[in-house]
Amino acid sequence: MATENCIFCKIAAGDIPAKRLWEDGSHIAFLDIRPASRGHALVIPKEHSESFLDMAKDSEKELFGAVQEVGKKMKESFGAEKIFVLLMGEEVPHTHVHLIPYYGKMPLSLNHEEGLDLDKILEEFGNTGE
Ligand SMILES: [Zn+2]
Repeated sequence: MATENCIFCKIAAGDIPAKRLWEDGSHIAFLDIRPASRGHALVIPKEHSESFLDMAKDSEKELFGAVQEVGKKMKESFGAEKIFVLLMGEEVPHTHVHLIPYYGKMPLSLNHEEGLDLDKILEEFGNTGE
């Protein structure tokens, strides 16, 4: 169920140009237009889903198969030490996975929230942690 206004559905359909790296029957990988590092790419399923948690059962496994394949090729082609794999989904409401090459300098920053009660969080999730 592609949505008419979804930019990633349009890229998947070839209606909007993108710097495509790779493609298979169900996924495409293309360069992020606002890269965090050289070679930063997105892998998306061609079929629309609003987020990873909304994907059809088993299509999430296929997506990660594609992510691994593209990531391995990126690591080798770009000479990256590692490939960071990130799911955020806040920018475009179409499931996408960021593959961000790491060349020895941290391309991202993560915040650390201090003072959280980890036992309370386990309890909220329904687990005692034991
Ligand atoms: Zn879409």
